[in-house]
Amino acid sequence: MLDLVAAVPKAELHCHCDGILDPDMMRGFAALDPDVEHIAETLESVYPVTSLERWAAEYHPLAERFLNPLPERLRLVAIAQRERWRRQNVKYAELFISGILGAVVEGEPLREWFRALALDLSPPDGIPQVNLVVCLSRTKVARHVNKIVDLATGGLIAGVAIAGDELACPIRDLRDPLGAIRQHDIGIEIHVGETGGPDWIRDTLDYGQPDRVGHGVRAFEDPALIERLAKLQVHVEFCPTSNLRLGAIRTVEQLPIRQALAAGIAFSINTDDPGVFQCSLTSELRLVQESFALSEPDLQKIFNDSLHAAFRPRRTGGV
Ligand SMILES: [Zn+2]
Repeated sequence: MLDLVAAVPKAELHCHCDGILDPDMMRGFAALDPDVEHIAETLESVYPVTSLERWAAEYHPLAERFLNPLPERLRLVAIAQRERWRRQNVKYAELFISGILGAVVEGEPLREWFRALALDLSPPDGIPQVNLVVCLSRTKVARHVNKIVDLATGGLIAGVAIAGDELACPIRDLRDPLGAIRQHDIGIEIHVGETGGPDWIRDTLDYGQPDRVGHGVRAFEDPALIERLAKLQVHVEFCPTSNLRLGAIRTVEQLPIRQALAAGIAFSINTDDPGVFQCSLTSELRLVQESFALSEPDLQKIFNDSLHAAFRPRRTGGV
């Protein structure tokens, strides 16, 4: 029987570069550093990552040990991930880059880092096309507005993703910095509705006016909010295994795929952090396809929705 999920063209919008590392990928870098094999072995013992606490206490310190120095090592991970995407018939992907605005301070060195990475990620045949998105925690948005605007208006990033603890900082508090970013027509994604309920999503729509929301599962608890997401044409980035592992949903059947389809809400399927959650875009699509008996046209719709919601850097003209 044809493996439908393996065969279809794919696109991913929500993948954090610092959550990609897994023991296999790390072993591929063993020649770089005698410590790498040891980190990979230790990393194997942290699975499954089933809480934010375990992630912070166990996965993150090991990933951080490898990602040092951050500018060089993030590039290696990004290039390895591009090859993984290519093998999965991924045509388009966005990579969330965190931490670099602090590591490479600003100005031309920062621009040059993004320029070089974009070049590294451009395969000769152009597939997959990978665009870069700066990911900031909510508490860091205000201080980095100028850098975001500089990188985006220079065509070096495609957009910005806002992550971090949604319950610790309402989007209302970020109204001004997000307004300054939006003024420059820069795509905005906001992680919300993973832990926070409908009020938090309303706060995000009212004050953040995002083009896309990351996770968003709890929006589907409120029919008025479902209607609003559809009306505003806000794209929802579902991340099934991430939500299962961290407890946003108890079973994959609780993922509001059917509600999104019924309401006409555009959505994508994503890995979030494939190294943390031991998944791939293919495994995520397969999980959803099998759980909801999705047809080939459904999978094509997810692909089309993903391309439609893609952030486009100024100079490339998009996908
Ligand atoms: Zn995320």
